[in-house]
Amino acid sequence: MYLEIALDTPLRRVFDYRCPADVAPASLRAGMRVRVPFGKRRLVGVLIRVKSDTAVLSSKLRTAIEILDDEPIFDSLLFELLTWSADYYRHPIGEVLAAALPAVLRTGSALYEHIECWQLTETGRAEWQSLPKTATRLRALAAAVSRDATPSELAEVATTWRAGLRELEQRGWVMRTSVPVEVAKQTAQISNNAHDLSEAQQNAVAEIGRSQDRFRTLLLHGITGSGKTEVYLRVIESIVAVGKQALVLVPEIALTPQLVARFQERFNSPLAVLHSARNDSDRLAAWRAARSGAAPIVIGTRSAIFAPLKSPGIIVVDEEHDPSYKQQEGFRYSARDLAIVRAQRHGIPIVLGSATPSLESLARVKKQPADLLSLPQRAGNAQPPRMRLVDLRKHAQTEGIAAPTMLSIKQHLEANGQVLLYLNRRGFAPVLFCPACGWSATCSRCDARMTVHQRANNLTCHHCGHETKIPEHCVSCESPTKPVGQGTERIEDTAARLFPGNAIVRIDRDNIRRKGDLESTLQSIHDGTARILVGTQMLTKGHHFPDVTLVVVLNADQGLFGIDFRASERLAQNIVQVAGRAGRAERAGEVLIQTEYPEHPLLTSLLGGGYSAFAEQALLEREQAHWPPFSRIALVRVEANKMEDALAFLDAGRETAQQQRVTGVRMLGPVAAPMPRRAGRYRAQLLLQASTHAPLQKLLARLLPEMETSTLAKKVRWSIDVDPAELF
Ligand code: ADP
Ligand code: ZN
Ligand code: ZN
Repeated sequence: MYLEIALDTPLRRVFDYRCPADVAPASLRAGMRVRVPFGKRRLVGVLIRVKSDTAVLSSKLRTAIEILDDEPIFDSLLFELLTWSADYYRHPIGEVLAAALPAVLRTGSALYEHIECWQLTETGRAEWQSLPKTATRLRALAAAVSRDATPSELAEVATTWRAGLRELEQRGWVMRTSVPVEVAKQTAQISNNAHDLSEAQQNAVAEIGRSQDRFRTLLLHGITGSGKTEVYLRVIESIVAVGKQALVLVPEIALTPQLVARFQERFNSPLAVLHSARNDSDRLAAWRAARSGAAPIVIGTRSAIFAPLKSPGIIVVDEEHDPSYKQQEGFRYSARDLAIVRAQRHGIPIVLGSATPSLESLARVKKQPADLLSLPQRAGNAQPPRMRLVDLRKHAQTEGIAAPTMLSIKQHLEANGQVLLYLNRRGFAPVLFCPACGWSATCSRCDARMTVHQRANNLTCHHCGHETKIPEHCVSCESPTKPVGQGTERIEDTAARLFPGNAIVRIDRDNIRRKGDLESTLQSIHDGTARILVGTQMLTKGHHFPDVTLVVVLNADQGLFGIDFRASERLAQNIVQVAGRAGRAERAGEVLIQTEYPEHPLLTSLLGGGYSAFAEQALLEREQAHWPPFSRIALVRVEANKMEDALAFLDAGRETAQQQRVTGVRMLGPVAAPMPRRAGRYRAQLLLQASTHAPLQKLLARLLPEMETSTLAKKVRWSIDVDPAELF
């Protein structure tokens, strides 16, 4: 019998091994971990199947070292989901399975937590009664050990139990082993501090409740502050009440500590929290609690979609539109999309929640209107903010802040409101320019400009991370240079100058780096010390700032003419999300959007009819242009030391694809990537497009093995992205 094993290697194949002599093949099941020799190393792989023949030459075949589990580490449903994902995303199965395991399990640690346990040996069992009656301590210890005892049980018998057991061990009466710890089931105690639900919330909760025992994809479209989280909490209450588990996916836990806190508060129960910032042992503990069913609620970021669940009852994907659900390297899966597949396999409902749903999700509920749950109003007394455009062509500006904007900021500050200035660009300025000769600072390794970071006195490339000192003079003509355009650092300085006496906090990746940074900044916002908040997208994520009454989108134009077909969707989402931070409490909010294109249809539809009107329009455009969700796409990306090599590889790929004679797939390219050179490598891409997924998958299944073995592949690095989120 042979074992077919998936190993964590980038090779798109599985490996055959002989079964170890002392293992009965009948005891093996798919999903168990196996330690095997691989070259000079030993690796931990996962058993795919046991089979009676192999194509590997007998002389080449090696024997597996040991079987690490006595039950599959993935239940069969999860295992099938993972193999399906590997197939769908055309990614090596070994890497997919590895991605689904906590690091410690990948290296072979035991599936269950074990604790020290003492047992009697055979001799011990036969002889311990012969201890003299006066040896009370030893007799008591031996008696305890005869029922198998853990250190804490022994400590109750005698505080000096270690010394006692050493004596018994010397006689050969006792031995030390370890046993798996049984994880106690945690029961959630629901606290009754909930609000009375609004009618829309009640409807949503009831509708989800009606689908408790079947697969159904529900979209909870609720404007920011409409009480979506409250809906999740109520629905989950009834799921855990019947002993089932809820899996909750969130974009970024580190940025939204409040959300976890709210769950914790409501359920008075330790949550199994899974995200990459946790250390290995915390992650493992959470993973185990999810798998054993001990944790009623499992909450985590992208990769938590692979959390094992004993008795799943519902999946919730919060902020389902968030790009972070799509992994952008290696195994490029979408956790949102996989969550739907997983819910279907479990036969349970899934709730996708957002104030700005993805066009994919909106297209789905257009076909199934009953699956759309709307929360059109803000919870409590909060009113939605008023939005206004500020025409940058008509008004004087001071470093990116137009005159009417300045006036509004002053008024809001005077009325004791907090002001949020949003700009999705870190650093001081995006360009360092020489007015004398026209030179500007570019990255030596990318086709891109360097961003000026004045605090760090650096020029930084935001694409490859390359850094240099800011040159004192133009490198070309030695004249003085000038930073052009705005980044958050510069806005911070400008605001300080224009609105003296108002404390400013800046929230972006340069300023918020360590664990406590965000907490202390949020604290100063909540206690009112901070009056002006300057920040990037980081500020748009799930925060609740009750005293912010004015939000300014400093530059909406960055996304208006993006090359990516998703650029306008992202821009609309960012604007609506950041606008949603205004006036979340008693005081009405105002939103100003600065633009040079006030008549742009994206902005007029957004202001006229809100996100839904924008989405309606955007879906129409997508349909006309045959972009997803009205088609399926896959992108082959290549990088090489020379552009010719990258293009030649894709040319050959295109030719091979044509030879497969799969009808219904259109190929666009190969072309150089929008940024042809990055980090010193040249990049090109080939886009495959089809109206449905089947022909695309059929073609990829035939094409990729050919590309992998192509001789041209040696000169390039390439990857496949099925359902890419970005086209570069
Ligand atoms: P969302 O997740 O849609 O942004 P939240 O669930 O965070 O909205 O709710 C926004 C605020 O309104 C929170 O402070 C929440 O406690 C409160 N809230 C939610 N539902 C209600 C309700 N039915 N009545 C009063 N306040 C509510
Ligand atoms: Zn110059
Ligand atoms: Zn660079």
